[in-house]
Amino acid sequence: MVFMKRFFCCAVLAVIVAFTPFIVSSQPLNATNLGNSGKLIALTFDDGPSDTSAWLLNQLKARNAHVTFFLCGDKIAKYGAVIERAVDEGHQVGNHTWDHTDLDTLSKSGFDYEVIKTDQALTAVTGQKNFLLRPPHGAYSSNMLQWANRPVITWSVDTYDWAIHSQSDLTDRIVRNAKDGVIILMHETVPTTAKGAINAIDILQKQGYTFVTVNELFTRKGIKLQNGTVYKNAPNNGIDYGKKDLNPPFYYNEAELSSHWASPYIAYMKKHKFMTGIGPNQFGPEYPMTRAMFATVLARMSGEDLSGYPNNFKDIPNNTWYTEAVSWAAAKHIIYGVGDQYFSPDEYLTKEETCVMLCRYAEEKGLDLSGDGTLTYSDSQLIHDWGLPAVTVMTAEKILTGRKSRLGTAFDPQKYASRAEIAAIIARFGTRQ
Ligand SMILES: [Zn+2]
Repeated sequence: MVFMKRFFCCAVLAVIVAFTPFIVSSQPLNATNLGNSGKLIALTFDDGPSDTSAWLLNQLKARNAHVTFFLCGDKIAKYGAVIERAVDEGHQVGNHTWDHTDLDTLSKSGFDYEVIKTDQALTAVTGQKNFLLRPPHGAYSSNMLQWANRPVITWSVDTYDWAIHSQSDLTDRIVRNAKDGVIILMHETVPTTAKGAINAIDILQKQGYTFVTVNELFTRKGIKLQNGTVYKNAPNNGIDYGKKDLNPPFYYNEAELSSHWASPYIAYMKKHKFMTGIGPNQFGPEYPMTRAMFATVLARMSGEDLSGYPNNFKDIPNNTWYTEAVSWAAAKHIIYGVGDQYFSPDEYLTKEETCVMLCRYAEEKGLDLSGDGTLTYSDSQLIHDWGLPAVTVMTAEKILTGRKSRLGTAFDPQKYASRAEIAAIIARFGTRQ
């Protein structure tokens, strides 16, 4: 059993992960636009969550962009941890009915089933109340507006992503219709939508646009939303009362490092020189772990002589701080390239990817990771099949602990692994009994 698990963890999965598409290229940390007066856009994503939600959250975080998710109640149980994370990262969630039913013809009891029940499920996950309502297909009636007793949000730009299913068409439509105060409709359930939207954000941030939640859009425009009223955009009045969060993405005040939850683990990593920092006196605990960084951490931990391994990657220059470590990790089959002789050194790693790579490292070093058991994370069902054995083993070995969530303990498999999280995992790995 132990052998099976190790083999599975390290050989079969290694191959699968090697061919997992890595979509993100290096995203500059300064891809934010602060204090741009009168250029606010609210992107809205309906019908979710979906399996692309975690990826979308990673990308939005890297760009300091905030959006609104209008969610269906019947998906909340499966994606609770993702929803909670979205709220924690500054996005807004709203009500899109329980099972995507048109509200304009419903009785009061039907309305309560669709909307009130969804409110309750959203509250259980987020701790919030007073959710905005977006009726499916934008269909509403005067009865419904009265029963809703809250602002109702439709849209001023329909991207037709649900009909066209084209990443480039979506990007183009968003860019063409960009205007101060617009509310743009998209759907998380359309596979091309997340990438198309992120590409549009990259283009429009360079033009000075800021991406805000629906609530922030109206607040910054000085508009107080009224119950029972339908809003499709915020008037382009040139007003912007300012941004509340001026910190760049992944910012952490290093003066507070000693009180960071991962402080003992960071101290361990510094002491052993497995991780040093991302700048002078800057550990960057919230900064995501890049592929080059993780190769370097594992190489340093191995204590091996790294010289003499060939650099076979077209995007790895010779003589960088990570060249030898990357060449070593590739030669040892711990971290593979991303295909066609590219390594993509600046790409961020997800939590489940780092688990698989650490398992391969253990295999390479002949270390026995033999834990077994059933995962009880609230989001276990979101872990990819190729990541499941590694996450299971590392959870059983108490190398992974997850994070406290309103629904129990969450793992966030597709979230970028932060440097603090990696410090904790490596320190627990290095000191396990
Ligand atoms: Zn919908």
